Amino acid sequence: MLEIHKFSKIIAANWKMNGSIKFIDNFIDQLNLKNNHNKFVCTIICPPFIYSQHVSKQSDNFYLGGQDCSLFQEGSYTGDISASMLNNIGCQFCIVGHSERREKFNETDDKVAIKASNSLKNNIHPIVCVGETLAQKKNNQTKEVLAKQIRKSIPKNSNNKNTIIAYEPVWAIGTGLTPSLEEINDIHNFIKNEIQDYENFQTLYGGSVKSTNSKEIMKINSVDGVLVGGSSLDIMEFNKILSS
Ligand code: PEP
Repeated sequence: MLEIHKFSKIIAANWKMNGSIKFIDNFIDQLNLKNNHNKFVCTIICPPFIYSQHVSKQSDNFYLGGQDCSLFQEGSYTGDISASMLNNIGCQFCIVGHSERREKFNETDDKVAIKASNSLKNNIHPIVCVGETLAQKKNNQTKEVLAKQIRKSIPKNSNNKNTIIAYEPVWAIGTGLTPSLEEINDIHNFIKNEIQDYENFQTLYGGSVKSTNSKEIMKINSVDGVLVGGSSLDIMEFNKILSS
């Protein structure tokens, strides 16, 4: 597995269910021109499964990630993609427990833990997403919710060398809203230092990251990188985020 601790920053693009061959060719062309092979910055592209191989063939200065993987290893699970298949085509990372999957596909913490564990068994670093809803934030439940999600979604075979946490407040995803820099720092410090048995996991921030806020967010000491949704679909924006 990659030694993820050697990276000073991790910048992951989650394309969700967007893109086409034409979009990818243009994106990679322009990414290759701009991305100056900084070996301490880990750039990860997570395309829709169907395009993973097309993306992976062109990846010499970024890593390939999945957006999800199956609960199962192999067999009669129509439509699913296993972690071993992801490994087979060169994936080194896999997002698990994204809030869209938790909300729209009824993924529980238990299922997220199985997916993270399957990823690890196949030499893939899981990026385990956690985050509070707006109602939970308003009720001052953020830390309680995050601690519970982390304890239940991170499997026994995880440790701070093989697993990444992404703090993605649900209310910040795709809304243009973000927590203040102080709030991000406070939550990241909480995640990294205050949940017993889960200390010092590399922790990414995700939720409306753009070229206009990425520099400030990545300057925060407790932030090990960013997970970028919408802005990762615009190569100009993404290149600016990479160089911030
Ligand atoms: C995401 O979906 O992981 C995400 C962070 O989205 P956005 O950047 O669009 O808020």
